[in-house]
Amino acid sequence: MVAVDEKYIEELAHKVSEKLSDHRFEHCLRVKDYAIKLAKQNNLDENQAAIAGLVHDYAKERSASDFIQKIDEKGLDPDLKNWGNPIWHGVVGAYFVQDELGINDPEILEAIKEHTTGDKYGKMSVLSKVLFMADYLEMGRNFPGVERARTLTDESLDAGVFYQLSSTLSYLAGQGNPIYPKTFTAYNDWAQYLAKK
Ligand code: GDP
Ligand code: FE
Ligand code: FE
Repeated sequence: MVAVDEKYIEELAHKVSEKLSDHRFEHCLRVKDYAIKLAKQNNLDENQAAIAGLVHDYAKERSASDFIQKIDEKGLDPDLKNWGNPIWHGVVGAYFVQDELGINDPEILEAIKEHTTGDKYGKMSVLSKVLFMADYLEMGRNFPGVERARTLTDESLDAGVFYQLSSTLSYLAGQGNPIYPKTFTAYNDWAQYLAKK
């Protein structure tokens, strides 16, 4: 169990705060706190969880042209250009985190890329699941069912992940929103895995 490096986190928080509005920065602080709680419950490196939580939405307030430029610069899948901020800020945002904040831990970068959509059962690390759930459950969230989702996640991190995948997919479809392929793939894979268990 690695303890949180408070001094490093404080310096990082300052850099994150410079790129985000107050309300979103506060969300990031709450995700950090919830990620630490889930890390403790799941025997994960607390410092890694804290960093991932703090920086996960670092790129959320960048312009579309900043994202397009990064997609070209890094040679990412051009299909990404058909999507928008909700997908870019994680998948492409991880590169802003790496380039501007100097975070090179591949597990943290992968968790940021997956934090909106999740991924297949076998592809999500414990860190990735912790970040995915901390973002959904941080103490500022108040959607109907949040308490049930928190209890479920305390009992089983995997059960929490599937609850979120299933709720988000049905919410997005109910609104008539396009579903990013990885969101679908993640949901199907977890549903099949849990059915076989
Ligand atoms: P936030 O950054 O803290 O607001 O949370 P997230 O990164 O989890 O989600 C950002 C937004 O993306 C939310 O409004 C989700 O509903 C939305 N989102 C998640 N998956 C998909 C998807 O597959 N397609 C679309 N269009 N939006 C999605
Ligand atoms: Fe996000
Ligand atoms: Fe978030």
